[in-house]
Amino acid sequence: MTGVAFPKATVALVACAVLVWACAVNPVTGKRELSLISESQEIRMGQEGAQSVVNTIGLYPDSALQAYVNRLGQSMALASERPQLPWSFAVVNDATVNAFALPGGSIFVTRGILAYFNSEAELMSVLGHEIGHVTAKHSVSQISKAQLAQLGLGVGMVLTPSLDVLHQVAGSGLQVLFLKFSRDDEAQSDELGFRYMVEAGYDPREATDMFEMLGRLGGGGRLPEWQSTHPDPENRAARSAERAATMTVDPSTLRVGRNDYLRHIDGVVFGANPREGYFDGGWFLHPDLRFRMSFPSDWKRQNLAQAVIAVNATEDAVLQLRIVPAASPRAAADTFFAQAGIRQESASSGPVNGLAADTRYFTVSTQRGIINGLVTHVAYDGNIYQLLGYGTMAAFSSQRMVLSAAIGSFQRETDPAVLAVEPARIDLVRLPRRMTMAEFHRRYPSSIPVEQVALINGVDVGDTLASGLLVKRVTGGP
Ligand SMILES: [Zn+2]
Repeated sequence: MTGVAFPKATVALVACAVLVWACAVNPVTGKRELSLISESQEIRMGQEGAQSVVNTIGLYPDSALQAYVNRLGQSMALASERPQLPWSFAVVNDATVNAFALPGGSIFVTRGILAYFNSEAELMSVLGHEIGHVTAKHSVSQISKAQLAQLGLGVGMVLTPSLDVLHQVAGSGLQVLFLKFSRDDEAQSDELGFRYMVEAGYDPREATDMFEMLGRLGGGGRLPEWQSTHPDPENRAARSAERAATMTVDPSTLRVGRNDYLRHIDGVVFGANPREGYFDGGWFLHPDLRFRMSFPSDWKRQNLAQAVIAVNATEDAVLQLRIVPAASPRAAADTFFAQAGIRQESASSGPVNGLAADTRYFTVSTQRGIINGLVTHVAYDGNIYQLLGYGTMAAFSSQRMVLSAAIGSFQRETDPAVLAVEPARIDLVRLPRRMTMAEFHRRYPSSIPVEQVALINGVDVGDTLASGLLVKRVTGGP
């Protein structure tokens, strides 16, 4: 949770748009193919998806880094087969190692993946690959298929905003953004990315080892990892090496951009950022917002940009914490109960751990049956926190004590060690003389193991590093 007020949740309307069958020419292959989606629909869909990425995951707060990534991406996209698209390239605030493209040209890389690149060319190879997914319309054809499937199933459920979250947790909202492409699509994107890189003047040989490395990584963030959305890393690396070997351009004329790239990621947060909230046993602690609240440790828990959400093992009960725009707990409760279909059962205005609060029980009739719930709004430190527990009738009656105990645990955080916690960050060192990676780690210690330091620098522990080289280490952290 990053402490940004939650915009009014939009009701998820699935498959309600009137779809027009159309045959469009694929800009990359030149072949005519069936598409349910016009270019303007594709753009709109991508922009809505991009907004939900920003709301759910959040952008990394470093405007210089954002501008740098966007500038590099734009330079390649403008030379692609679809220069007219409203291309955008942004860094999401997530420790996961991944990159993804939405239809219409919204491309995201995680801050987690940036830590593993060692040159502009490596970054460009991943951006080029993602551009390829857009220019070859892979996500458009995937979404066409997904929409067809949904139409076939007759899915069209409208949920009230507060209940929509169950489905966000289940992943249906964002999942469409992380559709696995086929091996053919991935191979085509690699091919296109290679071409875009060379046309933009970057050395495509940089891509080979990196694709291999990305296939093996995991970063522990909120998103799926690159290797789970990109099958077959070994083969792709081998193909990449073959392509580079047949290149007709003199590679010495192509840009790598090692130092420029590294300077842009100096100081970037590495791993999960505990200041944005973290789980510690049965607690969720938030140093920036100075509160703590218990969240059952045997539930599936997620700390998203604008909410903390937990779902029990049988996925029929939900506990959710978020900030809502309101003047008081009572005003927030009134807004909550103004939603269609929510009926209030009982209310109390007693404080929660000394903080002004408003607590009400509710019932909602949905297409899938009766939902029972409990919502407490708490005023703390200039914000109104909404603590929401709900489930099916049976689940709520069995989880009622668990939910009300968790909600009743919301309190000020006073532990100085929690309040002072800082994230780990990338720190660049210029080597005063040549040394091995192992020596570097002894002389310039990191808060991560030497094997991982070697990995983020794209070398082995026993490799010798040249004098004057910029080398990454990772300092600080909980
Ligand atoms: Zn891909």
